[in-house]
Amino acid sequence: MNDLSRNYINGQWVDWSGDTLDVHEAGTGEVIARVPSSGREEMEQAIAAADRAFDSWSESTLEQRIKVLEQLHVGLKERSGEIAETICREVGMPIKLATAIQAGMPATMTKSYLKLLPDFPFTEQSGNSEVQYAPVGVVGCITPWNYPLHQVILKIVPAIAAGCTVVLKPSEIAPQSAYILAEILDGTDLPKGVFNLVCGLGQTVGDTLIKHPDVRMVSFTGSTRTGSLIAHAAADDFKRIALEMGGKSASVVLPDADLGAAVKGTVNNCLLNSGQTCTALTRLLVPADQHDEACELAAAAVAKMTPGNPLEETTRLGPLASEQQRDRVFDYIRLGIEEGATLVAGGPEAPDGCDQGYFVKATVFGNVKPDSRIAQEEIFGPVLSIIPYQDEADAIRIANGTEYGLSGAVWSADQDKAKKVASKLRTGQVTVNGGAFNPQAPFGGFGHSGIGREFGKWGLEEFLEVRSLQL
Ligand code: NAD
Repeated sequence: MNDLSRNYINGQWVDWSGDTLDVHEAGTGEVIARVPSSGREEMEQAIAAADRAFDSWSESTLEQRIKVLEQLHVGLKERSGEIAETICREVGMPIKLATAIQAGMPATMTKSYLKLLPDFPFTEQSGNSEVQYAPVGVVGCITPWNYPLHQVILKIVPAIAAGCTVVLKPSEIAPQSAYILAEILDGTDLPKGVFNLVCGLGQTVGDTLIKHPDVRMVSFTGSTRTGSLIAHAAADDFKRIALEMGGKSASVVLPDADLGAAVKGTVNNCLLNSGQTCTALTRLLVPADQHDEACELAAAAVAKMTPGNPLEETTRLGPLASEQQRDRVFDYIRLGIEEGATLVAGGPEAPDGCDQGYFVKATVFGNVKPDSRIAQEEIFGPVLSIIPYQDEADAIRIANGTEYGLSGAVWSADQDKAKKVASKLRTGQVTVNGGAFNPQAPFGGFGHSGIGREFGKWGLEEFLEVRSLQL
């Protein structure tokens, strides 16, 4: 049992003796750690520490900021094995993938900011004006459980680089990697109070963070429901917000595409992290006359996703992160059957031999109606909906026919045609014929998927106010 009954406030670990929250191992359901269910008072102390540290950190030099981020990068690399295993246990992502993604991405993203920062124009000339980019102030960062450290890094690295100070409230379901991060930062030259960590529930410490007048910005990743609460709270005193929320992304297979490659690519993407990925391609749109073949190919692809203990190297499909999430996904699978979709693979049950923990069978539905709930709502589990379409215009209409707009994919033998269709999708990013992930490209959503962008210079600009001096 990892006893983490403490918060990190003003450069010090502050012991906590009040109520705690249990952290469960996704693959077994056992309690593996304990974190504080902190009160509003602890959050207020952390905000005060960040506020006190702001004047000095906002005037730090770029060299000082880069040095701290270099030290962070070294620490993330040194502790990557521990980070991967911790997140593998909490979230359920198979260890091989957790090593590459859950531990690899935080280091990759930190490195990408280290590359970008020396050339970023914190001041620039426009006619007779000097344009200056100034840090926003104290930033409240609130994060979810599915990529727990990656999502934290995407906020705190650009925030610190911008000269902001930070209070982090990580997910209570997967909080342990935030403690590893705080330990690493504690060993760097970051002045006390610039980074603070307070663990607890959204409705208490999260609520204090989003409503506190000394917090000038809230950077949030999580559900659209919580994002809406944050937007309302921020309206009261015009806080800046950056929201990264849900998705229901479409993978559009054009008639001339390699159907086998498109289905394989879509299934792998949809089932990554057992479907607990905001950008998951959860709707596969295929020409009506290729629908049955696509179902067969998808069934064959999910059959290869060996389920099991996520700590085993051979496992390809792990459990979900919590009992509540598993039961929610079972309900959606039952709903899909009630809505009349064809169950092609899987079902509302755990795979054979996976009786402990929070497992769900990889599930594929065929003949899904575009307006049905399983095609409209974010399930956040290993569930793919295959939707037949009539022509290109119909495919684009269906792809754009949800309130979300986070991600998408287009597949075609003709790259220009694929690009043309991709440009019509109302989403923040589209993968064309399986294009590679780019940590320098902007990441974020249209519509109910978000406000603002992360990654690269766009992610840094979120934390900067603009001032012009007329000379
Ligand atoms: P969630 O909204 O329930 O929780 C996210 C965070 O918000 C947690 O730290 C939680 O404690 C906090 N929170 C909850 N209620 C709050 C309140 N009233 N005030 C302040 N804070 C509060 O989301 P989740 O279930 O942890 O994460 C899953 C969701 O995150 C999915 O919808 C997924 O699509 C989304 N997500 C989006 C992205 C993206 O970049 N767009 C990335 C990953 C996950």
